[in-house]
Amino acid sequence: MSVVFSACNQKPAEESRQDDFNFLVEQFADLKIMRYKVPEFENLTLKQKELVYYLSQAALAGRDILFDQNYKYNLAVRRTLENIVEHYPGDRESEDFRNFMVYTKRVWFSNGIHHHYSKDKFFPAVSREYFEKLIRETAGGSFPMREGQSPDEFISEIMPVIFDPAVAPKAVSQEAGKDLLLNSACNFYEGVTEKEAEEFYKKLKSDAVKQGADTLLSFGLNSKLVKRDGVVTEEVYRLGGLYSKAIEKIVFWLQKAAGVAENDLQKAVIESLIRYYETGDLKVWDEYNVLWVQDLDSHIDFVNGFIENYGDPLGLKATWESVVNFKDLEATKRAQLISENAQWFEDHSPVEARFRKKEVKGVSAKVITAAQLGGDCYPATPIGINLPNADWIRKEHGSKSVTIENITYAYDQASLGNGMIEEFAGSDEEIALAKAYGSLASNLHTDLHECLGHGSGQLLPGTVGDELKNYGSPLEEARADLFALYYIADPKLMELGLYDNEGVYKAEYNSYIRNGLMTQLTRIEPGKTIEQAHMRCRQLIAAWSYELGKESNVIEKVVKENKTYVKVNDHPALRKIFGEMLAEIQRIKSEGDYEAGRNLIEKYAVQVDQELHREVLERFSKLNIAPYGGFINPVFVPVTENGKIVDVKVEYPDNYTGQMMDYSKNQSFLPTYN
Ligand code: ZN
Repeated sequence: MSVVFSACNQKPAEESRQDDFNFLVEQFADLKIMRYKVPEFENLTLKQKELVYYLSQAALAGRDILFDQNYKYNLAVRRTLENIVEHYPGDRESEDFRNFMVYTKRVWFSNGIHHHYSKDKFFPAVSREYFEKLIRETAGGSFPMREGQSPDEFISEIMPVIFDPAVAPKAVSQEAGKDLLLNSACNFYEGVTEKEAEEFYKKLKSDAVKQGADTLLSFGLNSKLVKRDGVVTEEVYRLGGLYSKAIEKIVFWLQKAAGVAENDLQKAVIESLIRYYETGDLKVWDEYNVLWVQDLDSHIDFVNGFIENYGDPLGLKATWESVVNFKDLEATKRAQLISENAQWFEDHSPVEARFRKKEVKGVSAKVITAAQLGGDCYPATPIGINLPNADWIRKEHGSKSVTIENITYAYDQASLGNGMIEEFAGSDEEIALAKAYGSLASNLHTDLHECLGHGSGQLLPGTVGDELKNYGSPLEEARADLFALYYIADPKLMELGLYDNEGVYKAEYNSYIRNGLMTQLTRIEPGKTIEQAHMRCRQLIAAWSYELGKESNVIEKVVKENKTYVKVNDHPALRKIFGEMLAEIQRIKSEGDYEAGRNLIEKYAVQVDQELHREVLERFSKLNIAPYGGFINPVFVPVTENGKIVDVKVEYPDNYTGQMMDYSKNQSFLPTYN
């Protein structure tokens, strides 16, 4: 519901910001690996450094959980690959072995065998025979065999998982008309149909109503739903439950962190998270979130838990993730200015009055420096976070909204001069606008999306928030994006001193439309439709506004020398259209109008113009840019004297394979099959 991924990785950086740190480390398949810096870490107090160190360890300890959540064979595949990486004695310079390594790196990147973004299974570019030879000739180490399994049995179990296109083709299926659970490889349900799962949670909720219990809990968030002997039941992620071995380690490091908390509130936050991991009780999870939202003064903050539900086709179950961070004080001033005026923005929003919040509460905003990424935030990471996800907590206690500026900075730096903007922008003027204002415009967009967009609006009485089902995520993102797009052009922003040239909002409109109608297609394989929520959101907005403005030529498709460009002709008119769209999407959310939401998504956000797609891919391939990026983490090294930590140093490794192998050796706590 609330993670903002980089709109696309072609944002131009200002020349003046060029930095001599090596941000781009390597590139393979459709991925690039970068590094990020942690400025100001040296200036933290010793206690704060220790806190970052302990939280970082807690951020790494849950990595195995995510692998297993994504697909039940992911840990088996990863361990098979790693045993070969470590112990294969044969030729490592051959093309085959290099291709094997590319596959291995992709599995690490995606936390499994399905593409992290498209959720499609990907395959090694080597033959089955070669792969089998690697397994058979690897000496030493051990493969993740089941008890009593012979090498032949192991090979015949693991090979189809890796090579057979019919086995687990999609991690998350959103294909309308098919059973979403039976067609998804993700490991949140076992032997349970979509209907059974829906009935299970419907009953859970109605039981809660009957018993007068808490009905606002995020039912199903932290469990696997399984059918055993005909009975559907939940296996909860907790100490002593599912994923216990990894949770033990997370709790161990959180306890250390609680010991050096900056203040009592932060200590209480960490302790309630520990209680949640111990019990798996969703009531404690809510208590933790309420405390966490209130902790605004601590310099250091973190996310750690089962949080986002993009990995579950039903949008109930959350994948494990963590981000450790501290405040970027300078940049926070910009975001605060926006959130201090939240009520003004809400009151003037183009949505119907009854769908607006009378009182916008605690939309706290800050810009942060990420210090460590874990689970579903590693290596691919969001550039903004807005939590918690529970609607009732957001409404009653507010939410925390952050922009991760050292990550966007690293993206900018790594993509300097990659030629993307020159290829796809339709005029010199558009290129100049993008170069001059692109960076500021996209930071402002993220601030508005996170600080205001997600927190705006209200549900009508009787609407709970899950009515939109699998269309809920893209519609929610569209609502936040439209709020940002509408207001980035508002004179209020100039009045507040956030920018002083209309070129800023025009640059944002140009790049949003260009991305939504064209350049984001670089992330889609030929013949495929769009499934990812943020991508659906962006195409929905771009394609729908194109159609709404067609008569007056607000957005124009231009063909020059056989190349297609999309050109925004009338920026003020486009703003008006964004306002109308925002009003409609807010209505859909407030009323829980599933039909209307589905129609919009299916009409505008899913299908791809095949011819345009071919053209975009062809032009893009000539630029040789990886469409997705992820990051190597910095390493925090405690310096000890007589067993006491006296300092923590930060190091910036630049070996992706090295970091992955290190994590698998030192941060891996789960059995192969859970
Ligand atoms: Zn969002």
